[in-house]
Amino acid sequence: MALRSPIYLAGAFLFLAVGFAAYFNVAVRVDPAAAQARFDWLVAHDAEKRAARHGERALRLRAEAGETPEELARLTLEVADAQLARGKFDRAATLYRAALATNAARSMTKRGRARYEDKLAKASLHAGDVETAVAIYATFLELAGDDAARGESEDPKALSAFYAEHVGETNGLFAEAINYARPYEPAEGSRETRLAAAKNMSSLGAFFAMREDGAYAAAGLLASAYSIRARQLGADHPDTVQLTLVLGPVFTTMGRLDDAEQLYLDAFHAQEDIKGANSPDLSLYIKLLTGVYEKQGRLTEAQALQEHMRRLFRDAFGAQRYAANRERDRREDINRPVSQYFLLDGAYAPGDLVSAAEYSIPTAKSPNIDEMKLRLAGDPHADPREANMPVRLAQLISLCRSESGERISLRSGYRSYGTQEVLFDRNRTRGTVTPPGMSEHQTGLAADINVNDRFMRQSDKSFQCFEENAYRFGFILSYPPENDYLPGEDSYEPWHWRYVGVSTAHLYREAGPYHKPQEFLAALPCYEERAASGVFPAIGEEDICLSAKPLRTAAANPDEAVQPDGENPDSARILNNIPATRQPR
Ligand SMILES: [Zn+2]
Repeated sequence: MALRSPIYLAGAFLFLAVGFAAYFNVAVRVDPAAAQARFDWLVAHDAEKRAARHGERALRLRAEAGETPEELARLTLEVADAQLARGKFDRAATLYRAALATNAARSMTKRGRARYEDKLAKASLHAGDVETAVAIYATFLELAGDDAARGESEDPKALSAFYAEHVGETNGLFAEAINYARPYEPAEGSRETRLAAAKNMSSLGAFFAMREDGAYAAAGLLASAYSIRARQLGADHPDTVQLTLVLGPVFTTMGRLDDAEQLYLDAFHAQEDIKGANSPDLSLYIKLLTGVYEKQGRLTEAQALQEHMRRLFRDAFGAQRYAANRERDRREDINRPVSQYFLLDGAYAPGDLVSAAEYSIPTAKSPNIDEMKLRLAGDPHADPREANMPVRLAQLISLCRSESGERISLRSGYRSYGTQEVLFDRNRTRGTVTPPGMSEHQTGLAADINVNDRFMRQSDKSFQCFEENAYRFGFILSYPPENDYLPGEDSYEPWHWRYVGVSTAHLYREAGPYHKPQEFLAALPCYEERAASGVFPAIGEEDICLSAKPLRTAAANPDEAVQPDGENPDSARILNNIPATRQPR
């Protein structure tokens, strides 16, 4: 008997335990507070996977008891976390989306809300819903801003850096979700929805293309955007073709040279169809193709393309003008045009670089690096010790500094072909860096100007001062609004000033085709001749320097191709010879 009592006790205890558990289970099943308590306890004890079931029940019971989605928002998010931990991505995404739609979520801090949006995006990606993820991260990138997205944020704790970091973490997920060989396309949705998805994919893809570890994610996203646009807009559409410039280099980085070649060929033929076989606009694609052929060791083809490109320039700009520019090439003089139509080759390097700091020019970067150097280019017909680029830039900066009260410094001067290549590779997708060979920085005659430690803007007082006075010091604005000198949509660069010498800058201001500095430089001998003879066309008269040969081929759209004389407000002919007091548009 003595031995039996512990057994009785054990039996009794077991009975009680089972009874309690049964009661507890019933309570958990029907009592919202008990279900909630069970859920909270499991979450607090790191058993999120087991917690999900109880959380769902608590949600259901509390809703049945009349609680509103607003009141349930917090629990909804917690249950979503639990479902995410369990790998129930569809359900987690549904719950996050519901909770984030409440006012309660709207009143969260930006960071708090972004953390849940990030989770919604990840859950969606895992569930195969790429559009939701792409839309969320594209918004993050917008909020991050350019500097943070480039990884150049000054404060790593800043909200902008926080957004960029969240996007950066997802490159593996995107690479897994989308294979560039089988581009993703939304299963349903209108043309607008699809194009919106393509836009988000393209900006996100561009972001990954800049990152060392982002090539696969970039390729997947960009190839998808490309395929959506090709289908919705056509392979010839500029928005489709534009993606080539981003995706092609990504393929090249990945060693997918055949894919890059195909892409460039498609873009080349699309441009050829639109602009004609003799358009100098083809040069960009020829250059890209040449690069691929060189990498593949197909040197004969590369050479043939180069020759083709040279022929296009001769045709486009006229043999005489071409010869004149070749002449200037040899003299390395300060008036040569440089753009996507006038390329510099990789070997071109000025021989007379000096450190800007030695000429009292404030520099934005360490004064010893190449980028803080400028050419000691002198004006023709003037004492080169007084009249040279660095001296004149120092004078201009000091004048405008005292006029505006703003801090002005040199952000970027000389960049070698090689440096430009590296920079372009790193930044090509943001459109802030010019492809190698097309940049005036390679001449050492261009200066990017900082105002208060960021790029000069049109709204700066210093810009107004430059606009009014730069020509007196021999500088012109190389990339005025709506120019097409660089690839991409709009190459307006209010911070980029180019030295051409005082007399040429004056001539441009007095008699040149306003807002067409490159055309002006290309036809400079003609303008000089006219200036020497004192014959300037009156307003409305034909500008013989520009009209001798068309500088650009006609647009594909016949409505745009022909502008009756005197009716196009942008026409150089009209603006020609407008007095020096004219204001920029
Ligand atoms: Zn520049």
